[in-house]
Amino acid sequence: MQTITVVGSGVMGKGIAYTSAISGFKVFLNDISEEVLGRAKEEIFGLLEGSRQKGFITEEQYASATENLTFETDLEQAAKDADLVIEAVLEKIELKIDIFKRLDKICRPETILATNTSTMSPTEIGAQTSRPEKVIAMHFFNPVHKMKLIELIRGLETSDETVQIVKEVSERLKKETVEVNEFPGFVTSRMNCMIGNEAMNMLMEGVASAEDIDKALKLGLNHPMGPLELADLVGLDTRLRNMEYLYQTLGEKYRPSPILLKYVKAGRLGKKSGSGFYNYS
Ligand code: NAD
Repeated sequence: MQTITVVGSGVMGKGIAYTSAISGFKVFLNDISEEVLGRAKEEIFGLLEGSRQKGFITEEQYASATENLTFETDLEQAAKDADLVIEAVLEKIELKIDIFKRLDKICRPETILATNTSTMSPTEIGAQTSRPEKVIAMHFFNPVHKMKLIELIRGLETSDETVQIVKEVSERLKKETVEVNEFPGFVTSRMNCMIGNEAMNMLMEGVASAEDIDKALKLGLNHPMGPLELADLVGLDTRLRNMEYLYQTLGEKYRPSPILLKYVKAGRLGKKSGSGFYNYS
């Protein structure tokens, strides 16, 4: 495993590309437009510079990471030499399936295709390729360079060899892994979406302010972040797609909170748009 291609350079793609590059992999980062990729490049290089100055990464890591990162809008150019592809585009099943079908044609037969989906089925995605045994979900956490876990979700046909290789890659990325049997939302998203949705409903019902709901969970239940600030960090559009998928697959108790729908309709997408449950301007 030498070369990782990351498809999608949003919140997660940027973090996965950065973490892979400082861990010694050659990295191709792909997105749909030069403009989006340009912004991703600026942010990743800013993070590399900041980490170097603060001593979080060595001079050697900085030099090899800057050299090893390539930003490429053409999916074929980005993925043709990959040993592992990690897809991190929007949480839409049709989009993910379309990308996996294209990757299946572009990539060498031995290339492993992973999805960073928060909720969806690697079995369903893998079934659309000629290599379901090489398809797996690698669920990273936000911010990728700080969070220790990767949740590994095996599809029905995912081989033991694929799981083993992806575990080794995760170790090289200095992450811990848990292996989860496929079920919508896995362990973490299912739990996290539930807590977040309950917090949103409480806010809507006037139970407490956003600040006090978050403070209650941090100081009273020892959560490192409040559920509303965490939803803002994830992105409210992404959280809504996660909730909609869980609602479709697991039923009523996952119905997205009306306040989440209202905020997304208003363009309040959380930290990335400047406001969500909190104001970031
Ligand atoms: P995002 O909206 O920040 O980024 C998605 C990126 O995908 C955008 O830059 C967009 O331009 C790009 N994209 C769309 N279509 C594309 C295409 N055809 N080819 C290449 N790029 C394309 O989303 P995100 O928050 O980074 O989430 C990405 C995935 O990671 C989702 O599946 C999400 O559920 C999952 N995830 C998100 C978080 C989180 O905290 N945000 C955490 C874990 C997993």
